[in-house]
Amino acid sequence: MSDKFDVIVIGSGPAGYVGAIKCAQLGLKTACVEMEGSDAPSLGGTCLNVGCIPSKALLESSHKFYETKLELADHGIGVGDVTMDVPAMMARKDKIVSNLTGGVAMLFKANGVTSIHGRGQLLAGKKVEVTDASGNVTEYEADNVILAAGSRSVEIPPAPLTEGFIVDSTGALAFQETPKRLGVIGAGVIGLELGSVWNYLGSEVVILEAQDRFLPMADQRMAKEANKIMSRQGLDIRLGARVMGTEVKGNEVVVSYQDASGDQELVVDKLIVAVGRTPSTEGLVSPDSGINLDERGSIFVNDFCATDVPGVYAVGDMVRGPMLAHKGSEEGIMVAERICGHKTQVNFETIPSVIYTHPELAWVGKTEEQVKATGEAYKVGQFPFAAIGRALAAGESEGFVRIIADEASDRILGVHIIGPQASELIAQAVIALEFGSSAEDLALTVFAHPTLSEAIHEAALAVDGNAIHMANKRKKK
Ligand code: NAD
Repeated sequence: MSDKFDVIVIGSGPAGYVGAIKCAQLGLKTACVEMEGSDAPSLGGTCLNVGCIPSKALLESSHKFYETKLELADHGIGVGDVTMDVPAMMARKDKIVSNLTGGVAMLFKANGVTSIHGRGQLLAGKKVEVTDASGNVTEYEADNVILAAGSRSVEIPPAPLTEGFIVDSTGALAFQETPKRLGVIGAGVIGLELGSVWNYLGSEVVILEAQDRFLPMADQRMAKEANKIMSRQGLDIRLGARVMGTEVKGNEVVVSYQDASGDQELVVDKLIVAVGRTPSTEGLVSPDSGINLDERGSIFVNDFCATDVPGVYAVGDMVRGPMLAHKGSEEGIMVAERICGHKTQVNFETIPSVIYTHPELAWVGKTEEQVKATGEAYKVGQFPFAAIGRALAAGESEGFVRIIADEASDRILGVHIIGPQASELIAQAVIALEFGSSAEDLALTVFAHPTLSEAIHEAALAVDGNAIHMANKRKKK
């Protein structure tokens, strides 16, 4: 036994590292175990290393290229031959990632979190065994353990990963040249974001999606608009297309899939498999640890992230709910505070979702389909960015804001935004929902002019037929 801690966190992604920092800030002697990294632990998990941050770096670079080639002329800006240096774009991305992971290491130091490098496993009695890269095993003890080992990409038998040809999201963040023809399996968040990166850089992108509905988790008006815009940008999105097999032939990948018309074939240079993620629970807990999984293979927890073992918690992608970094971070903070006896909770009703394409999609609360299914009467206010001066000035006037409110109480039930900076605008809606705001509360709020946020103001006004800069469909109240 080498050391005893108040808290040991296994995993340093946004759920684990944030939870560890919060524990240390609350005066708990805290360690965080991370297995990734060669000489030192590479902190930050999927999000910082191979997820949210690198994908956003590539989305920014690729969209700047697209904009320069296709949209700057509109502003009167002439450019010569626009070229793309993919290795330079990748090097920029890698630098951003190493800055941020190094930043987490500095935060650990500043807050007194002990960083332990190796693969952690929870044993019975809240002991944690850590195996380092050379196979040395050290056992630690803790009063509390937080499992935060995240998730990994799902692999499917018809499309086994094949180096250089069939890759997961991590592989797709490291292409060294733009593939001429790119296939993507799955029109989920990852498929759309990565498909967009390479589409903006000039690949011919075909996305094969097994389901008949596009973005079934999103408000369907917004999903329809997104499908229209993305298709116009060049993404070939084929719905109801289930991949049955793949074969690497020479320098090509032949993808067989079935759709409503029967057997189909697609030939591409590279194929990205983006069919979902699954909790990384393999080897994380010993069979006698007392931890149970739920029916989907996630670690079973209650609303406060407590597992079936007192003093052991699980947070982030390992547990129920959306696999989103910000949801995991809030769970990490909640657990740290509850370990200290505080009564903190996470409001799972107000977690925003974002798809970082151009334009972005962002939403919070219920979709119209979900509200309709409850049978409760509701009203909707929708306002287009095409009627917002600031959006026109920026040349980004596609999309709209859609607010759904309860018919009787006027309380906002959901906000759905497709348009410029939707990821930033949605925070206003999250705050409104968190404070139980009515549509009228937002309508009576003063918004600066000219801003994109005015679309939220106008949509709130439109809920009762009071929009100013558009003909109202609904009768004024
Ligand atoms: P997803 O579950 O969102 O989408 C996967 C899609 O693949 C589904 O629509 C599914 O129907 C389809 N599919 C599965 N098997 C198929 C087959 N054989 N043929 C054709 N289609 C098939 O998964 P994802 O996009 O991989 O994302 C994983 C997780 O990561 C999600 O929870 C997501 O929210 C999260 N994530 C979030 C962000 C963000 O917040 N911007 C970014 C990346 C990932």
